[in-house]
Amino acid sequence: MADYFHEMGWRELGEGETPNHLLHMARFLIDFGIYEDQFTGQWPRLPPPASVEAVNNLPEVVIDKEGRDCPICLKKFNINDKAKEMPCHHVFHATCILTWLKQTNSCPFCRHELPTDDEGYEAFKKEKKRSEQRQESLATLHDSMFS
Ligand SMILES: [Zn+2]
Ligand SMILES: [Zn+2]
Repeated sequence: MADYFHEMGWRELGEGETPNHLLHMARFLIDFGIYEDQFTGQWPRLPPPASVEAVNNLPEVVIDKEGRDCPICLKKFNINDKAKEMPCHHVFHATCILTWLKQTNSCPFCRHELPTDDEGYEAFKKEKKRSEQRQESLATLHDSMFS
């Protein structure tokens, strides 16, 4: 049994550590492929809203070029319009992007994700990254052994 958990990347808790149930739950579900959509590897529901802090920290920019439009409402910006810029540099009307980010955390144009206040989802993302890294290092190991 101990070997089994070891293999799955679990480790025993050190002294004074308390179990992180959400993290364990996320790890469990990912290892068993329940949380991920089998075909896309995506969170099967719409990801949760962006964190309030991340939304409040989005910088405001002034449009200085013609021809840009807001990907949400598709209206053209006018020069000197104020807009909100996402970390991926996509620019939206404040009202458009703020409404959107209350529904889900990613850029509607390129799906760049903002942090969320949802602990379960954050644990999911962390574990997904960890399991990708694990697979990468296995692949590297495999290559170094067989090439
Ligand atoms: Zn808009
Ligand atoms: Zn974007």
